[in-house]
Amino acid sequence: MPGPSSPASPAMHTLCAPRTAPASRVASAPTMRAMVLSAALLPLELERRNIPEPGPGELRLRVLACAVCRTDLHIVDGELPLPVLPVVPGHEIVGVVEAIGPGSTGLRVGDRVGVPWLGHSCGCCAFCEDGHENLCDAPRFTGYHRDGGFASHVIAEAAFCLPLAMPEANAARIAPLLCAGLIGWRSLKATGEGARRLGLYGFGAAAHLVAQAAVAQGREVFAFTRPGDHAAQAFARSLGATWAGSSNERPPVLLDAAILFAPVGELVPAALAVVRKGGRVVCGGIHMSDIPAFPYRLLWQERSVVSVANLTRADAREFLAFAQAHPLRVHVVTYPLAQANEALADLRAGRIEGAAVLVP
Ligand SMILES: [Zn+2]
Ligand SMILES: [Zn+2]
Repeated sequence: MPGPSSPASPAMHTLCAPRTAPASRVASAPTMRAMVLSAALLPLELERRNIPEPGPGELRLRVLACAVCRTDLHIVDGELPLPVLPVVPGHEIVGVVEAIGPGSTGLRVGDRVGVPWLGHSCGCCAFCEDGHENLCDAPRFTGYHRDGGFASHVIAEAAFCLPLAMPEANAARIAPLLCAGLIGWRSLKATGEGARRLGLYGFGAAAHLVAQAAVAQGREVFAFTRPGDHAAQAFARSLGATWAGSSNERPPVLLDAAILFAPVGELVPAALAVVRKGGRVVCGGIHMSDIPAFPYRLLWQERSVVSVANLTRADAREFLAFAQAHPLRVHVVTYPLAQANEALADLRAGRIEGAAVLVP
């Protein structure tokens, strides 16, 4: 038996020879950057990873911009259960198709697409079959169940990517449309077509887009901000709000409906108190602090409280077509990818006018 120091046999040479070649390929392989959450309440950490290949039905995108949503804050702060860790947050992605997995049809390399929160629905549960894929029993959400857009590259399911027919628009200004805009749009629809006088509580990324869409539809907007936030109130007026004040103020008239974007449970009875008989209060967020007890008379006379969850691809197509026909002024504050933690901190502190957007 040859010992360890015996000269290598020809067979061993053929085994050894290729071993150095892949090593050098790995060393020079292109890598991607990602801001990774490894546990709730920890800062995101910049990681370099090998660029992944798209699997069947998937695309690889080079990320051009990814907006930062309040849901990302709820994820990072552990206010939502975290089903997958580590995870790369980010679900308002504008990217360019860079590689196409087997069986992905309809898109070509070089196409610009958006990736929203709904990254997958099963297609066969009762909700999916009924046109309510936003309520799917087995969904996968971008930046939550699968890695999202706080990265230079992302893998997404082709069937859930949204073609973006806005070639002239800056990617950073499109990104906020993909959640703030989409969820805002679904919330706006939930108020009903008869809701002409509309209250918006929390004037952040979603409200600044919904306000413009509502005004374009001929509605009147009443914007409610944190008490004393005069800058946000001026911002709301500049985007067409009829009235802007603090969330503890009464508007000059009763409202037909209100949408709550601020994740503050106290605002539910506050909003019920300023909507007319039959008025509707729509909760647009994925998480909210507890709603305090309130007298039944605030709900009586057929007022209602409803929530909006996720989005459907039909919502996305409808809203993107609306945004093309009625160009919205999208206010953004951009950050380099590596400053994702600063962007999250500014959003948490209410320091952002419009939407925060990461640019890799
Ligand atoms: Zn389903
Ligand atoms: Zn979102």
